[in-house]
Amino acid sequence: MAVLCLHQQGIETVWIKPTVRLSNRLEWPESISWQGLERLADFIDLETFINDHGFPENVQSSCWGSNQLLSRSKQRMSRQSNDTQLVNKAALIEILSRKAESTSCELIRGRVEQIERQNNIWQLHINHQAVRSVDVLILAHGNGQSSRFSIPAKATTTDILQCHHWILSKNNTEAAHSNTGSLVEACPEGWWYAASLGLNKISITSFQHPTTITADHGQAEYLRNRLNSTIHLKSWIQESQWRHFQRPRIFRLHCQCREQFSGGGFDAASPFWFSVGDAAATLDPLSSFGSTNGIWSASKAAESIGSILNNLNSNASKNYNNAMHRLHHTTLLQRQQMYDLEQRFKQHPFWMYRTAASTT
Ligand SMILES: Cc1cc2nc3c(=O)[nH]c(=O)nc-3n(C[C@H](O)[C@H](O)[C@H](O)COP(=O)(O)OP(=O)(O)OC[C@H]3O[C@@H](n4cnc5c(N)ncnc54)[C@H](O)[C@@H]3O)c2cc1C
Repeated sequence: MAVLCLHQQGIETVWIKPTVRLSNRLEWPESISWQGLERLADFIDLETFINDHGFPENVQSSCWGSNQLLSRSKQRMSRQSNDTQLVNKAALIEILSRKAESTSCELIRGRVEQIERQNNIWQLHINHQAVRSVDVLILAHGNGQSSRFSIPAKATTTDILQCHHWILSKNNTEAAHSNTGSLVEACPEGWWYAASLGLNKISITSFQHPTTITADHGQAEYLRNRLNSTIHLKSWIQESQWRHFQRPRIFRLHCQCREQFSGGGFDAASPFWFSVGDAAATLDPLSSFGSTNGIWSASKAAESIGSILNNLNSNASKNYNNAMHRLHHTTLLQRQQMYDLEQRFKQHPFWMYRTAASTT
């Protein structure tokens, strides 16, 4: 996104992009706000994209804070700014990447191993061999390790979540029940997010406290036992007859946030840097705001760089930093309010660690 926005302003860009194996791509749907999607309209045809890669979501449901299921029906392509759209995330990245590759940017395939400051420039060490110098840096490496990047702003871990992601499917012939939608459900061990991928597949992800998983956590039996602690997700799966399931993807998500989101420019010898998306702040997926934040921050950072290079606003980096702090503060407050709403399981480790009493 940053490459596209910089190109739009006529700024020369170097993009360092690792090759990602197809098997490492995560196949999950993401709910992205229309506010975020509208920002992509300069680069992709949104209607076509949603038609080809959007998942219909007739009903959004949640079971949180009480055993009751709250549901609201959703219109297809409701483009109100606070509304969301379920999309195939991998397809969105693929389309944006192809578009960015077709610009005049210099594309280097590889990983940045190390970043250091040399006087007024940044030196990037790529794949243990090449060294590339740049005047301004955008950090967009996601949630990955960045300990060898000499950026003067540490990232602090705010939470760690143990995630399990399964795809469940059924054969066409088994189409007994076919409502499409999404469901968020709290349970004693944490919470679940489920979203149907069309009529025959569903993506389910569970979020738990890292110390509460058991040795069998990759097995079918584990999934069955965990699902049994839900009320509505269990019924949805039974009624819809999603019987076949792929092996789960199991990973730990480190929610983290930088002390500062951008910097440099204090004097002629201090080069600018910006952090965007998860490299700036990896949010709890409960906020459903990570990708929207990624799109927004990348376009804002590119806009700020344009202002700096064209001598239009010497405070552009400071303004970006302040805006990101405000956004992150609001997101953390909303997350806390959401966790505090759930009082049924407050004796369980997941909820003990995440309610206001334990965080103050
Ligand atoms: C289970 C789960 C569910 C989620 N659901 C939602 C949701 O419903 N809605 C939502 O808005 N958000 C959601 N999110 C959050 C969302 O996925 C992220 O916030 C978003 O993908 C961040 O985008 P990014 O571009 O910053 O990072 P990434 O998508 O991680 O991209 C980082 C890129 O940098 C590359 N890279 C990494 N290291 C290097 C290096 N050293 N050198 C060069 N390149 C490098 C990677 O290969 C990758 O291409 C969810 C997250 C999780 C874990």
